[in-house]
Amino acid sequence: MIPRSLQGQQPPRWQSLLAEAVTDVDTLWAMLELPLRELPAARRAARAFRLRVPRGFIARMRRGDSNDPLLRQVLPLGAELESVPGFGNDPLAERDAMPVPGLLHKYPGRVLLTLTGSCAVNCRYCFRRHYPYSEANPSREHWPATLDYLRRHPEISEVILSGGDPLTLSDRRLRAMADDLAGLPHITTLRLHSRVPVVLPERVDDPLLDWLAANRLNLVLVIHCNHGNEIDTAVSDAMRRLAGAGVTLLNQSVLLRGVNDSTDALCALSRRLFAAGVLPYYLHQLDPVAGAAHFAVDDARARELIEETRDLLPGYLVPTLVRETPGERSKTPL
Ligand SMILES: *Cc1c(COP(=O)(O)O)cnc(C)c1O
Ligand code: SF4
Repeated sequence: MIPRSLQGQQPPRWQSLLAEAVTDVDTLWAMLELPLRELPAARRAARAFRLRVPRGFIARMRRGDSNDPLLRQVLPLGAELESVPGFGNDPLAERDAMPVPGLLHKYPGRVLLTLTGSCAVNCRYCFRRHYPYSEANPSREHWPATLDYLRRHPEISEVILSGGDPLTLSDRRLRAMADDLAGLPHITTLRLHSRVPVVLPERVDDPLLDWLAANRLNLVLVIHCNHGNEIDTAVSDAMRRLAGAGVTLLNQSVLLRGVNDSTDALCALSRRLFAAGVLPYYLHQLDPVAGAAHFAVDDARARELIEETRDLLPGYLVPTLVRETPGERSKTPL
């Protein structure tokens, strides 16, 4: 259904691209000419957690190679269906830190809003793959309560829009929320965590840049990019435009076996990010979510990788290796 505000108007191009994302395993197999013997397991895994990947992201993958580092991130595998001890459904115990549905206040001074369950891409390692989004969406009926909570907590200076992916929401809604937040004098910074500028750079269009540039808050965008091959010309151009709108650009990655668990991959990623005007922020150890155990890299190897990276790159290109621990007041550096 087309929202009333858009009737008689063309929806933005990114929304059509989002709707055209590939969600069918057989289509992905045909597009990338993947080995057919892996198809039945992929179909089964996609039934438990749906495949979703924009066509522009598929275009950056190598054909015929099921080990492509971009493909690995979205490829449903039979291994996801195995239950592995220690990998559960709410690895971060987030349901305990929610004073208003969808508002996470775990860390002093900043809150995180899970605005939507929608994403432009379904990442197989995602720690929110079992998250109760439908009961935890503050953006509509809980928005007044969210603002009220912020009003009662003048020590909060930063609001983080997360999800799902906040940039799957319309600019109209995002702009309205950003304006409301800017109306609270103690809020100084608006941060967005999004994978959309990487997997669907067309999202960074004029209407988005307009409301970002018009807002009084300090703006931070943390993109989620795990491998240098994700950054093509369209992504670099999007980054340049965001920087032009005054947005500070950072990246966070998840350390993923078979994707970026080598010094070469981590160094190349940092260099590509820097060339696009983005600084590395965090490298996350995988959250132990059911279905993602095959991505796990052990702590000793993770430390070794980050040490080797530190030898080879300037300090400002080395992300902080962290883990999220339930109940801690910040991410835990390793
Ligand atoms: C990661 C996270 C933040 C932000 O942490 P920073 O260290 O400031 O990046 C805030 N709230 C929650 C619930 C988080 O998970
Ligand atoms: S975009 Fe983020 S929230 Fe969405 S599936 Fe990927 S990792 Fe999870």
